[in-house]
Amino acid sequence: MTDDKVPHAADNIIVEAEHVTKTFTTPDGRALPVLDGVSLTLREGEIVALLGKSGSGKSTLLRCIAGLIAPSSGTVEYRGEPLNGANPGVAMVFQSFALLPWLTVQQNVELAMQARDVPEAERREKALRAIDLIGLDGFESAYPKELSGGMRQRVGFARALAVEPDALLMDEPFSALDVLTAANLRGELTKMWESKGFPTKAVLIVTHNIDEAVQLADRILVLSSNPGRILAELHVDLPRPRDKRDPGYEELVDTV
Ligand code: ADP
Ligand code: MG
Repeated sequence: MTDDKVPHAADNIIVEAEHVTKTFTTPDGRALPVLDGVSLTLREGEIVALLGKSGSGKSTLLRCIAGLIAPSSGTVEYRGEPLNGANPGVAMVFQSFALLPWLTVQQNVELAMQARDVPEAERREKALRAIDLIGLDGFESAYPKELSGGMRQRVGFARALAVEPDALLMDEPFSALDVLTAANLRGELTKMWESKGFPTKAVLIVTHNIDEAVQLADRILVLSSNPGRILAELHVDLPRPRDKRDPGYEELVDTV
């Protein structure tokens, strides 16, 4: 961690979710409590992993934080202001990439900025910068179907980073990729995070993969299932990049 990323004050809080509950209604009319009083703080300079089994409500919590859905009760704040619709300070990376197949790489990357009314010239410049940062230089005019899964997710990353969000929210971003591709992209993400040029101040990553959480995060929140509650919070004090052979790594995995 570089010095300028060390959090030191309460005003470094980017996102704060407090006592968030979410209850869905099933098609046959039953109440399905998914989140039950979840609180989470995301501060400048940290990568937080939200670890939980499939169906535990990880995506639901992320969507509440992004302001895509409203909690049944509880609050989500961005920089101290309660959300009223989409969270203006975050951008998302999705498991399924969520690219529009009829648009080129560059058009896909520009679309998120278009939705935020970024002027055209600035949009182009930021898109090209993000595409370059994520290693897709030369693929600006390619269509998603011409790309591998790993390259498609790079477009997903470029699209999110191009808006220079305060916080990057990632929903199992590597789980649709093969093991090697996932490891490469994870490694690159770690390197970019440690470098000064990374255009976001905090990362919240949702995962069901313990190793992924231990490799990336400064802090790991463990979410239970049925309903989702935060069971434990772990601080990870290992230097990055992290490797299974590092002293302390296996102990940490066993703790989780
Ligand atoms: P995770 O991301 O941890 O796998 P999700 O947040 O996607 O979990 O889902 C948690 C639970 O909420 C699941 O049982 C899922 O079926 C249910 N769920 C998610 N979205 C909806 C919805 N819009 N309507 C009804 N049930 C939903
Ligand atoms: Mg999910």
